[in-house]
Amino acid sequence: LDIGEPSSCFKRKPVIVIVVGMAGSGKTTFLHRLVSHTMSSKIRGYVMNLDPAVMTLPYGANIDIRDTVRYKEVMKEYNLGPNGGILTSLNLFATKFDEVIGLVERRADELDYVLVDTPGQIEIFTWSASGAIITEAFASTFPTVIAYVVDTPRSSSPATFMSNMLYACSILYKTRLPLVLVFNKTDVAQHDFALEWMKDFEVFHAALDSDHSYTSTLTRSLSLALEEFYENLKTVGVSAVTGAGMDAFFKTVEASAEEYMETY
Ligand code: GDP
Ligand code: MG
Repeated sequence: LDIGEPSSCFKRKPVIVIVVGMAGSGKTTFLHRLVSHTMSSKIRGYVMNLDPAVMTLPYGANIDIRDTVRYKEVMKEYNLGPNGGILTSLNLFATKFDEVIGLVERRADELDYVLVDTPGQIEIFTWSASGAIITEAFASTFPTVIAYVVDTPRSSSPATFMSNMLYACSILYKTRLPLVLVFNKTDVAQHDFALEWMKDFEVFHAALDSDHSYTSTLTRSLSLALEEFYENLKTVGVSAVTGAGMDAFFKTVEASAEEYMETY
């Protein structure tokens, strides 16, 4: 009997996890760690690489943009530099994305997650038409979650922390999808300071006072404005290198997928 079943046309599975973050935050390493984790814990996952310019991947991708578009040839053919080449490759791939969605749909019963790696330079995916098309195609078919990877040791000063959070907030605005903040590299620096700053702006303000490089009132005002953003945000601390936090990550993604099912 399907009385009481949600009337949604969305499939419950797989959950799409789009991994974004600043260059060097550890997206690819994190993806690699997630892949090994799924294999050892019988989670059924698919990995998709959307970075056309990556030379070698530490994990085996089930779907790889490089199989469809040759980035170097795109650069030559259209007379482009590296960034233009990546963007144009992504555009070309986006025009065929319905085929990718079809492929995932046919495998839907066998999959729990599709983990998606994005180009090294974050704005190529988050601020491009093709990035929006790809995100939209996923989100209109499956529960879709954005995992925003933060380089925790590099965000330990209040000013860099603030600019990273503003970026995360802009992604939430742009995608309107559930966002998980993934504090990576906790083997180098624990992320407790970040949680403290998000929970209590007075602690953040105290940290600002001791940061003589930047004591503008703007940062203070912004921290107040971000309170609402922080409140609805899910966070998890991980280390892509040691593997710490992987179970917590998947739990958080599940909770976000639930949120997606209720909201969209
Ligand atoms: P991407 O540009 O976001 O894909 O970042 P990469 O995965 O290529 O990683 C950038 C650098 O950060 C590499 O040197 C990684 O070895 C390093 N890295 C990634 N994750 C971690 C981590 O959890 N801990 C530490 N210590 N280093 C990491
Ligand atoms: Mg990468």
